[in-house]
Amino acid sequence: MEHKYIADIADYEDKEITFHGWVYSKRSSGKIWFLMLRDGTGMTQCVVVKSEVAEEVFIIEPTLTQESSISVTGIVRKDDRSVGGFELTVKNIEVHQIAEEYPISPKEHGTAFLMDHRHLWLRSKKQHAILGIRNQVIKACRDFFEENGFTLIDTPIFTANACEGTSNLFNVEYFDRTAYLTQSGQLYGEAAAMAFGKIYCFGPTFRAEKSKTRRHLTEFWMIEPEMAYCNLEENMEWAERLVTFILERCLDRCKDQLKTLERDVSKLEAVSLPFPRITYDEAVDILKKHDVDFEYGSDFGGTDETIISEEFNSPVMIHRWPKEAKAFYMKRDAENDELALGVDMIAPEGYGEIVGGGQREDDLETLQSRIKEHGLPEAEFKWYFDLRRYGSVPHSGFGLGLERTVAWISGISHIRETIPFPRTISRLEP
Ligand code: ATP
Ligand code: MG
Repeated sequence: MEHKYIADIADYEDKEITFHGWVYSKRSSGKIWFLMLRDGTGMTQCVVVKSEVAEEVFIIEPTLTQESSISVTGIVRKDDRSVGGFELTVKNIEVHQIAEEYPISPKEHGTAFLMDHRHLWLRSKKQHAILGIRNQVIKACRDFFEENGFTLIDTPIFTANACEGTSNLFNVEYFDRTAYLTQSGQLYGEAAAMAFGKIYCFGPTFRAEKSKTRRHLTEFWMIEPEMAYCNLEENMEWAERLVTFILERCLDRCKDQLKTLERDVSKLEAVSLPFPRITYDEAVDILKKHDVDFEYGSDFGGTDETIISEEFNSPVMIHRWPKEAKAFYMKRDAENDELALGVDMIAPEGYGEIVGGGQREDDLETLQSRIKEHGLPEAEFKWYFDLRRYGSVPHSGFGLGLERTVAWISGISHIRETIPFPRTISRLEP
């Protein structure tokens, strides 16, 4: 391919080459001026010396505004003091467009302003680094499942039923009826697990989250494996192995991004297998120890999760929940019918819940009575009941929230920066 990228600059030492990119910054000192060029894959310093370029090239410096698009031709020179260890001695510059005054400058901007300019903010170093990590997390998930014999199954986005409760559903007009945007691919994942043994789905999910928190988006991406012949303990093993795989991959392949973000990687390196496992009751004891006023039976809130996570260096898995706190499809503990075989994984350092899952109820009659208890429309679950009619087996699965995982690895406190174009209660643009 003709097109050369700054990321590969080391391959072109002492060669003449053209990079296509945008002006990041520049500075001038009389007979020489310097330009930082970014091309999306990296940045390099371009040196323009009066005696080495045509007059018309040398004099364009004052007109080159931040983010102007240009192609720069020059010779790649090794220079240990330069960003990336190389720089470009310029021979020619071709201007494609002189940018209007760029709204994002190195000075501090408020978050609302930056979010309104998200389409431009993506070009900033920090945002570029976070989305680079997101890319690697996605790749790591796909590789993990591929290497472990899982089949990718795409589940529908329009659905007729609500599996995570009816309070945060998005309705969509669907010809002469109402459809919902999916909250989770799980129920379809269960069907696919009975066909393929081990599957995962990975797609956008939608929840009309009415509370504004730094951990909730209305549109987020979830990776959901589902395994036939799998109990809660084995499910937890899959979850910790997946998370460890993602982490190791990012530590290996995202060194530059983590450095840009000034992430304390020693905290990530401290994570090790097996992850601690505690029961819901033990988690409540931790809260009591810290004098937290907590109502037994409810879900843990963000601050509760932070307090619990601070007890551990690795993500902690909280299992065996009071049944009221979990969804209708969770299997009950054979030793205590009050407990659901659910598991949440809480990331260290206060990044909150990254995984939710559990063992599924596999008995037809129990499931039918649960649907009644929860007041869910039975007709919509007719096909789901079939899975318990035709070769029902113990099975489990979980959902890993992509954005929460990226926030933790990147060390970003607010989830809105971990997705290219976040959707929240108050944001539909850009
Ligand atoms: P929370 O209690 O934090 O709202 P949840 O119990 O509703 O989470 P699950 O239904 O178990 O979450 O979903 C599985 C995973 O999806 C969560 O562990 C989390 O990583 C992610 N997740 C859930 N809701 C959101 C959201 N609104 N925005 C981003 N990620 C989410
Ligand atoms: Mg929720």
